[in-house]
Amino acid sequence: MAPTITELYARFDRQADRWAARTGVSCPTGCGRCCETTVPPCSDAEARLIAHHLLDTHHERLAAILHRDPDVGAVPPCPFYEPTGDYHCTIYAVRPFFCRAFAFASSTDKTGQPAYRLCRHMPTPDSFAGSRVLPLRDANRPARTDSALPLPPGMVAFQTRIDGVAEGLSEPAPIDRAVRRALERILIARQYARDEALLEHGVLSGTDATGSPERDPDFTDPSPPVPGSRPA
Ligand code: SF4
Repeated sequence: MAPTITELYARFDRQADRWAARTGVSCPTGCGRCCETTVPPCSDAEARLIAHHLLDTHHERLAAILHRDPDVGAVPPCPFYEPTGDYHCTIYAVRPFFCRAFAFASSTDKTGQPAYRLCRHMPTPDSFAGSRVLPLRDANRPARTDSALPLPPGMVAFQTRIDGVAEGLSEPAPIDRAVRRALERILIARQYARDEALLEHGVLSGTDATGSPERDPDFTDPSPPVPGSRPA
């Protein structure tokens, strides 16, 4: 069976953590520069995971994301960034792959070879022996055969697998737009399921002149309201 998004995240995190422990690569304490300057891309499947998290935890950013103006472009900082929080990221457990991989994944250099460069805000760990780039090169030996350190997990390989957990709906989009789209779909599906259940139990009496289900005036719906919605 194909791995889920959370299984792929866990697999990447394990590999990246092992690599970071071995090399000593780490972000500066309290750094949030990538969140301040980026609105990360997010696939549909990733956005659904975040949307469920927001709904299930009654997250403080839920209403803001849901009612964000769709015409406003993706302008940093990331809408989930919290400058004063412990981790800065308010959705840390379900943050998208882009954020997990930032500065902890390898890409390719100009010649197409796997390579890794420290983020410019990261301190140079002792294991890099003064270099900011892996593989470490030895001028007397052919390039890329002399690295004393392993490369971190490959960005493209993991990204391809993450994108493979697709629902065939759309291309990755900036996180605010992708999550709002996912929230709208989930809330519509929940509303539909709720109306179906109410109809089944005879609480809704049929359809009115507009084709919408007609609510029994004596019925009080016990389920929690949709965030930001007006009472029915
Ligand atoms: S989702 Fe979280 S980690 Fe990613 S950019 Fe936004 S605040 Fe930062």
